[in-house]
Amino acid sequence: MTMINAYDGAAAGLSAEDRALLARRERVLGPAYRLFYETPLHVVRGEGVWLYDKAGRRYLDAYNNVASVGHSRPEVVEAIAAQAAVLNTHTRYLHEGVVAYAEALLATFPAELANLMLTCTGSEANDLALRIARTVTGGRGLIVTELAYHGVTAAIAGASPSLGPGNPLGPDVWTVPAPVSPATGADVGRQFADGVSRALGDMRAKGVRPAALLVDTIFSSDGVFADPPGFLTEAAGRIRAAGGLFIADEVQAGFGRVGPQMWGFARHGLVPDIVTMGKPMGNGHPVAGLVVRHEHAAAFGAAVRYFNTFGGNPVSCAAAMAVLKVIQGERLAENSGVVGDRLRAGLDALRQRHSRVGEVRGAGLFIGVDLERPSGEPAPEAATAVVNHMRDAGVLISATGPGGNILKIRPPLVFKPEHADILLGALSEALDAI
Ligand code: PMP
Repeated sequence: MTMINAYDGAAAGLSAEDRALLARRERVLGPAYRLFYETPLHVVRGEGVWLYDKAGRRYLDAYNNVASVGHSRPEVVEAIAAQAAVLNTHTRYLHEGVVAYAEALLATFPAELANLMLTCTGSEANDLALRIARTVTGGRGLIVTELAYHGVTAAIAGASPSLGPGNPLGPDVWTVPAPVSPATGADVGRQFADGVSRALGDMRAKGVRPAALLVDTIFSSDGVFADPPGFLTEAAGRIRAAGGLFIADEVQAGFGRVGPQMWGFARHGLVPDIVTMGKPMGNGHPVAGLVVRHEHAAAFGAAVRYFNTFGGNPVSCAAAMAVLKVIQGERLAENSGVVGDRLRAGLDALRQRHSRVGEVRGAGLFIGVDLERPSGEPAPEAATAVVNHMRDAGVLISATGPGGNILKIRPPLVFKPEHADILLGALSEALDAI
């Protein structure tokens, strides 16, 4: 993924101890890894919405969507520990855990999405979704957005243009422009669907049959495009009319992130053929997967068996079940909607006072804020300065999008109104300071 606000090698502001750790890290991990922030952050502990460094200084986490029910959430920790103490095998034995979890999770989906297949990462879930789509349709062609990120396997990195020019796209991959903002006055759904139709036409001309349209339903790496609800329906119709599947990548948008709905596709009033998920599913324990229409699971299963050594093991299912229970028990999808609305209202108010603040977009607790130069052009330098200033002030956010100028705010779902107010205060100060 394009890395914005990455550590630039200056090591400014680091203690001697952290500088030594950084040197050891670079020696053993090599140069492909990146660190956040001009002064990298060394955290040693997390609790709820807070991360702590060695000195005990706390940082409000408004970035990490994985720990969605809160860092070190006791119910999840206990579920993992209890199951690990009893049994951890795999999905080739009968076990209550995986079945009970599948039943509970599938109950959050429309009835058509009747089967769950488990993996360890979102990348694997998308890879499996692509294999299913290719098996079911007999086609190869895959359509993604221009700055999509879907993961790290060879096939899926090849469908992740946000990895940059050093990462060649796969031979059967077509890209389409991301949706535009409704503020442009455009018919967002029509415009996005027309891009899909153009890609389908090009595919046809090259003799490639379509397998799927794969989209992140919050378009996170493209710059956060959520509105108007329903705009994805037309594009989903176009891919299906051409014989392909519609795959919703909900690794970012799922599990209440775009609340009050549990799933991003629900905002669009459609039922995908496959929904992939991961990140917050185990609150940090690596569990991911996909739900799929039964007829597609049946066609795939008739052609090939599926087994994943770690995917869906009893410990992973215990973690995932604990997470789901907290999300449902504490109505965190609703909280995401309520606190997200408060944040957006506060950001809109900041916009009145700070000329750098442009459009505020998003849904639930996934928010993108454009920062602009006086000329109206994207201001990546302002985004970098704000993100680093806020880190120094004890609030963690990031930046994204094609111009690197879109603040990305995506806190754990246990974020409360008082946390939103801390964030807004820190952002206002950062905007004053830059
Ligand atoms: N899809 C989307 C939309 C993502 O944001 C990511 C991770 N950033 C992935 C897939 C890949 O998930 P993982 O890192 O768990 O493989």
